[in-house]
Amino acid sequence: MSEKIYHCNNCGGIYEFHVQSQNLKCPNCGTEEEIPDLGGVSEHPLHLGMQHYASDVQKETESVNMLDCSSCGASIEVADNSTATSCPYCGAHIVLAQKQVETITPDGIRPFQIDQNQVGNIFRNWIKGKWLAPNELKNAYQQDKVMGIYVPYWTFDAQVDTRYTCDVGDNYQESYRDKEGNLKTRTKIRWSRSSGRFSHFFNDVLVRATKAIKDTLLKAVGAYDTETLKSYSSAYLSGFSAERHNVPIDDAYLEAKVSMDNVLKDMVRNIELRRHDHVNNIRLQVDYAKETFKHVILPIYITAYYFKGQTYNVIINGETGNIYGEYPKSKVKIFLIVLAILLVIALVYLYSTYSQ
Ligand SMILES: [Zn+2]
Ligand SMILES: [Zn+2]
Repeated sequence: MSEKIYHCNNCGGIYEFHVQSQNLKCPNCGTEEEIPDLGGVSEHPLHLGMQHYASDVQKETESVNMLDCSSCGASIEVADNSTATSCPYCGAHIVLAQKQVETITPDGIRPFQIDQNQVGNIFRNWIKGKWLAPNELKNAYQQDKVMGIYVPYWTFDAQVDTRYTCDVGDNYQESYRDKEGNLKTRTKIRWSRSSGRFSHFFNDVLVRATKAIKDTLLKAVGAYDTETLKSYSSAYLSGFSAERHNVPIDDAYLEAKVSMDNVLKDMVRNIELRRHDHVNNIRLQVDYAKETFKHVILPIYITAYYFKGQTYNVIINGETGNIYGEYPKSKVKIFLIVLAILLVIALVYLYSTYSQ
């Protein structure tokens, strides 16, 4: 999925993807060119996926500028003019190298909706409220370049027919006499069995196709609108980076099944709690049909910074602008806050004693 270089029709400069217009734009002369939309994003039947995906999809061998991090395993394709010297995921020192790689063409892409200027504002607004954070974090954004990366995902669809059994409990009041002989009531639970059946359609269950970036980070910045994905074009990558997938579809499928099961159990809980007070021991028997999958790439901005030997990340959803950052709470600042609170308590105490 290499970044092809697109030249400006007017001056021969190199086009970059321009977030505001969603077009290619020449930084030299401002000429814009629309990225052709090739129509819908195709899904592949899953039975095809398991055995044949490797041979079925479009593959090419290309020479690309790669950031290979031996520390966290990230394998990120960066622009030819990139000057990155550290890994955006783990902060380790890296050296970029031109490499021959086999690439799989993604089925769909969510182009960046947030540009670098907006990232600056989002970061500054976020840091304002973080007065327990060490000052290093405030400098991290200025020193490190925040990298805009397309992260690889697998998505799964399935029509499911679910049968379930579970234990359900109903509260009731029981009266009894305590040791002194007084009449009292207490709440007890009457347990019984319940079962049911329902169908549900899962659309675009997202499973990350990279292990280099922490799942908790990706989840912390929230969801993407997968209904409006664009058909893939390498033009969207101009000026941005893209991580290569390293989670095989079979592994991702197992992960998707686990998250679908959790959703189904929540649905059972909601159904049964309309009639009962407690639900336990949910057992599912699920038939999956019309299973499909696709390979998509979704946008994030991310940076890593060191503080006292530890790595912390700040990540921004490239579609919605949601930000999440890890930071150590400064011990000195916490100490000063505690001291200030104690001082206020002492003053209030003194004031109340002397004013009597
Ligand atoms: Zn131009
Ligand atoms: Zn790394």
